[in-house]
Amino acid sequence: MGDILPFRRPSLKDQHKGKTLCRHGHHKWVVDKDKQFDVKQGKLVTVWRCSRCGKQKVETR
Ligand SMILES: [Zn+2]
Repeated sequence: MGDILPFRRPSLKDQHKGKTLCRHGHHKWVVDKDKQFDVKQGKLVTVWRCSRCGKQKVETR
């Protein structure tokens, strides 16, 4: 005996689950910089960032 783990860390499982969601395109978008001026496009944009994997996307208004 002695192979029973006394404690499982659910955080690791949650992290894995989150990355799986991200791989399938289900990102957890949060506003990183609201109403930032994009010089290339010459207009105001909102920068979104995934709080799990750090991926960014830019929304043009
Ligand atoms: Zn993500």
